[in-house]
Amino acid sequence: MSLPPGSTIGIIGGGQLGRMSAMAAARLGYRAHIFTPEPDSPAALVAAQTTVAAYTDQAALKIFAATVDVVTFEFENIPATSLQLLTSLKPVHPSAEVLAISQDRLAEKAFLNSIGVPTAPYAAVESEADLAAAIATLGLPAVLKTTRLGYDGKGQAMLRTQHDAAAAFAALAPKPLVLEGFINFACEISVIVARSADGSIASFDPVENRHKHHILDLTLAPAPLPLEILAEATRLGRLIAEKLNLTGLLAVEMFVTATGTLLVNEIAPRPHNSGHWTLDACPASQFEMHIRAVAGLPLPPASRHSDAVMKNLIGPDDMADWPAIVATPGLIPHHYGKTVARPGRKMGHINRLFPKGSLPGDFGIMDALKYRD
Ligand code: AMP
Repeated sequence: MSLPPGSTIGIIGGGQLGRMSAMAAARLGYRAHIFTPEPDSPAALVAAQTTVAAYTDQAALKIFAATVDVVTFEFENIPATSLQLLTSLKPVHPSAEVLAISQDRLAEKAFLNSIGVPTAPYAAVESEADLAAAIATLGLPAVLKTTRLGYDGKGQAMLRTQHDAAAAFAALAPKPLVLEGFINFACEISVIVARSADGSIASFDPVENRHKHHILDLTLAPAPLPLEILAEATRLGRLIAEKLNLTGLLAVEMFVTATGTLLVNEIAPRPHNSGHWTLDACPASQFEMHIRAVAGLPLPPASRHSDAVMKNLIGPDDMADWPAIVATPGLIPHHYGKTVARPGRKMGHINRLFPKGSLPGDFGIMDALKYRD
């Protein structure tokens, strides 16, 4: 059943992902109702309606549910009890089960391995004794991570020697933790897949992601890798979406090893920063696919008409260049409407398109992203 225009899509979370989903919803004739604890959120600025309340506020969640036709989210760390309440009142896509897997790195890795999807080797760590045992098995270097609530490199520590172990264990919370073998990857890629309730799937081309200070800096679309690797990445993305019985959008982050093997690092059942290039290089962006999947509309092919590079605009330094960016022909600017540019905060992004098949090499990309002086 597809939702008719005029229906209301409830979106949990008020960040830029909610903002761009709300804009895609509006284009399809839907109203977006945002639920966020944050006043003046980026999404609220473009939505038909906003509820400002804590994610644990059961009374507010009930009123929110009464005003919407379907619930989705742009933010994964919704308390389980709140999700249960919403699920009892309205359709929630993706489901609480999918969210529970993606909220917990241990559940996520166990699920991926159970369906034959490779990950970094890992071990659960609840105590210092567990950590010592895990180091003995996985070796060093290794990466110690919280199982929940980590993002942009927060909630993790690199262990290079035994001496790093005790301090990292003490510093990371909440427990339990997970120790992952260190992957000496050649590059990082991601795939974004949309899946409808009827099982139809649309997958965007895999892209390469480059980080600076643990925050996504550049996305190259498509990833400049051999076709077999791209095909395997797509196969894994589709398989995960199918096995999750997903309705909605899923981003799958992977490491590519020097020998071309793929290991899945993380999955996120929502729009993803590495899909922002689709806003300008594809007829239907990841945000439109997200809304279509949760509203029950048909999914068009996730084809791209252009190659693209996306650059994130982070914090006050990048935003100081905003006047130059909007003055530079060829750069497609996206601003998230945030008024305060704290260091490390994602403020916007720019896309640059290239004719299909002509994504330049590193120097060409740097040149193409230069702002006018
Ligand atoms: P995550 O929070 O899991 O997305 O990790 C953030 C970043 O840390 C990744 O994008 C990688 O660059 C790096 N990283 C995470 N896990 C590993 C690992 N097991 N081996 C090597 N690098 C990692």
